[in-house]
Amino acid sequence: AEADVLLSVANIESAYGPIKAIRGVSLKVRKGEIGTVLGSNGAGKSTILKTISGVLDPTRGTVMFKGADITGKDPAEIVRGGLAHVPEGREVFPLLSVRDNLLMGAYTRHDKDGVARDMEQVYTYFPILRERQAQDAGLLSGGQQQMLSISRALMAQPDLILLDEPSLGLSPKLTKEIFEIVVRINRERGTTILLVEQNANMALNAADYGYVLENGRIVMEDRCEVLREKEDIREFYLGMK
Ligand code: ATP
Repeated sequence: AEADVLLSVANIESAYGPIKAIRGVSLKVRKGEIGTVLGSNGAGKSTILKTISGVLDPTRGTVMFKGADITGKDPAEIVRGGLAHVPEGREVFPLLSVRDNLLMGAYTRHDKDGVARDMEQVYTYFPILRERQAQDAGLLSGGQQQMLSISRALMAQPDLILLDEPSLGLSPKLTKEIFEIVVRINRERGTTILLVEQNANMALNAADYGYVLENGRIVMEDRCEVLREKEDIREFYLGMK
């Protein structure tokens, strides 16, 4: 039923000046699930996430989160409401230590013990971050910065994490590791996740429900196990015949 829908996007359109990047997108993510939006370079995936997290105001349509209309709200307010965005390209604070980056993610919280517990937990997900906790984040490798960026989002104790292209610039091995942890976070913490990816293979294996975006429009949606078997998906997104 509608009751278990955590995020509901209806008919959103967003533009960069005269360029319409998304043209009437609707999608839902249910509580506890991993949702994914697949699409090639420039299809509009990042624009969808930016519109949900309030970075970009849509020219039409609505974004509902936990039953409330958050369309056009201030991004900081949206984060406080329980929605964290891990943007493409990570965007860690390069001159702050790994530990201070994590604390930045928790800046809205006042429960010191809870923050300490969550920091311990992210260090169990990504032990390399514990080893590097005193180092400047700018010195981390790309994969480690991705880990830090996901961890910083977790420090806000979000109900929903928007994950933009976690595989970008990572080796297949590291991509696999990151996806395994993302699934683990979902299973262990119950955090709902919406991830957008060009790497359809990884995304379809990790997620429960998927949407296919082409030229700013959703052209297909289904449970990921069904999408994986579809002829056009296999051909165009998985490179199989
Ligand atoms: P990518 O993986 O390359 O980020 P994407 O599917 O996330 O692709 P978007 O970044 O959402 O795609 O871009 C959708 C469209 O909007 C593209 O045509 C892109 O060129 C355009 N676009 C994105 N950002 C801007 C911007 N800041 N100014 C102008 N046009 C933009």
